[in-house]
Amino acid sequence: MEVLDNVPLAAHTTLGLGGPARYWTDVTSEAGIPEAFAWAEKRRLEPLPWGAGSNILAADCGFDGLVLHMVLRGVDFLPAGRVLAAAGEGWDSLVTAAVARGWAGMECLSGIPGSVGAAPVQNVGAYGQEVSQSIVRVRAWDRHAHAFVELAAPDCAFAYRSSRFNGADRSRFLITAVEFQLRPAGAPALRYPELLTRVPPAASLAEVRAAVLTLRRGKSMLLDPADPDARSAGSFFKNPVLSAGAGAALTARSDGAMPPLYPQPGGNMKTSAAWLIEHSGFAKGFQLPESGIRLSRKHVLALVNAGSGTAGQAAALARHIRAAVEARWSVRLELEPVAVGFSLGELG
Ligand code: NAP
Repeated sequence: MEVLDNVPLAAHTTLGLGGPARYWTDVTSEAGIPEAFAWAEKRRLEPLPWGAGSNILAADCGFDGLVLHMVLRGVDFLPAGRVLAAAGEGWDSLVTAAVARGWAGMECLSGIPGSVGAAPVQNVGAYGQEVSQSIVRVRAWDRHAHAFVELAAPDCAFAYRSSRFNGADRSRFLITAVEFQLRPAGAPALRYPELLTRVPPAASLAEVRAAVLTLRRGKSMLLDPADPDARSAGSFFKNPVLSAGAGAALTARSDGAMPPLYPQPGGNMKTSAAWLIEHSGFAKGFQLPESGIRLSRKHVLALVNAGSGTAGQAAALARHIRAAVEARWSVRLELEPVAVGFSLGELG
């Protein structure tokens, strides 16, 4: 096991923020995982799984533990639409390969940054599709059992942008591989109105992928070094899921435009974090004085590092927005990225 000292996290995050990780190791095989955890435990260090750094806000002071950089590789396309992919594979490379084979099930998830291993954690979804819809099982190191386990999809507690991996069992499992069931020669998922208007009737998987990429590019939600608004961690706040009562209370607080409310399973209502932010007085591109962090000029849901930003400034903007939305709408926005190295309350 090779361990590096003081690795700057900024170089490993899409936001380009974060101080040094005290220790860092590249995990290239499952065999190295028990040793890596034992190494951290022996030194009483916190282990931190790390994928592509696309959904992380790392503090300026860095992280005082051991980063487990998941770089396990390998994708097997098996008979009848089964796919087995290692955690360190790039998510969009997998989608590209599935679409090229004509296998349906992940085409709307085109262009999402990050790794295969991170996708089940928040049950990534977009444009009417969720990764949980095609997951058969997740393979992981179980820190409680000290063993590799395989969790069938029903045991993963998948829900809207959540799972047991970021819920009840946060920090327990280190995902090493994911098995999917796709649909060879299947039709694309065309459920999302914004997408439906942009594809021809009976669109192919490739046409849907192209339309999703165009939509995402228009919102600077594709990784693109040439696009200054893409230097972000994607959506910075989760779309709130409210009880029916809280949904009604939200509507009652409006004195003009009505907040969007989409019915959810169990009678809950989902609303749009972007709508709440915009209707709390924030325009695209908003920036606090003397800060190198601003809202994206394409989408108020993304915080962008304008180049000279710090994680402290990102935290200040997050606090400012959360406070304003709560004051106006009585809704507490939750952060979507994983915050690393921050103390309690620093993010509002
Ligand atoms: P958007 O299209 O402006 O939608 C904002 C919110 O309204 C989302 O909660 C979306 O639901 C909901 N919504 C819009 N039209 C809807 C409809 N007809 N029925 C039900 N719900 C509807 O969102 P955006 O920020 O530009 O993002 C585009 C897509 O990428 C969305 O699907 C979004 O969820 C997804 N995304 C996912 C992640 C992630 O997985 N972490 C991060 C960024 C964006 P849904 O969220 O259910 O689509």
